[in-house]
Amino acid sequence: PPLHRQRHQFVIDFVKRNKPKKVLDLGCSECVLLKKLKFHREIELLVGVDIDGVKVKKRKNGLAPLSTDYLQPSYDQLRIDLYQGSVTQKDARLKGFDLVTSIELIEHLTLADVELFSEVVFGYMTPVAVIISTPNSDFNPLLPGRVGFRHSDHKFEWSRAEFKSWALKVCLKYGYEVELTGVGQAPPGQQEGVGFCSQIGVFQRLGGTECCDMFGDEAEDVFSYTLLYSIDY
Ligand code: SAM
Repeated sequence: PPLHRQRHQFVIDFVKRNKPKKVLDLGCSECVLLKKLKFHREIELLVGVDIDGVKVKKRKNGLAPLSTDYLQPSYDQLRIDLYQGSVTQKDARLKGFDLVTSIELIEHLTLADVELFSEVVFGYMTPVAVIISTPNSDFNPLLPGRVGFRHSDHKFEWSRAEFKSWALKVCLKYGYEVELTGVGQAPPGQQEGVGFCSQIGVFQRLGGTECCDMFGDEAEDVFSYTLLYSIDY
């Protein structure tokens, strides 16, 4: 299957195993992943955020209940909210999630904004788990006809060592542990040398599920995102 499908399948497999109730997709674009996640009955709150509100709204209709969905009694649990906003800014409505996903997003940020992103996601939202995917530049020589970055809007593409170094710093600073993996296999015999085409970090908050507000110096709640769409099943 194409790589974007493999990345989404990775998230879906995680959801099947871990059964998060509140899931937030950062950089949700046209809500492709959210539409797949809405079929997972354990999820009660599904939220998407993107800086590009036009993209988010373009295909939001696929998120509304299908008439047949009402035949499934367990659906009355689900709410879906879509926001326009930047992952470099805090919003109190995005705290307390079980899972935050960021699929092919961070490479679109400047390194200064990656620092803000880390602080917002790991230091402020403090979700139980975070899945982050980004291109692995070690794999780039295997991509045919590629010159420069994989996409013109990429601000960087990290090697496995660079991604690991960022991930470990985040873990140390905010109290998480990480497992580094990926999707997109190299041809037989070359996997060891180059790794996966997309590298993925799966972060888990240390100290389990009870929320630790150790960085919560905010006296009042901030609401910097704009709610574009909200639907109750
Ligand atoms: N996550 C989607 C997927 O798996 O197919 C799409 C990823 S797309 C390559 C990157 C998305 O990140 C774009 O929709 C872009 O608008 C969004 N984005 C870029 N900078 C952002 C920011 N600062 N805050 C929120 N979203 C941002």
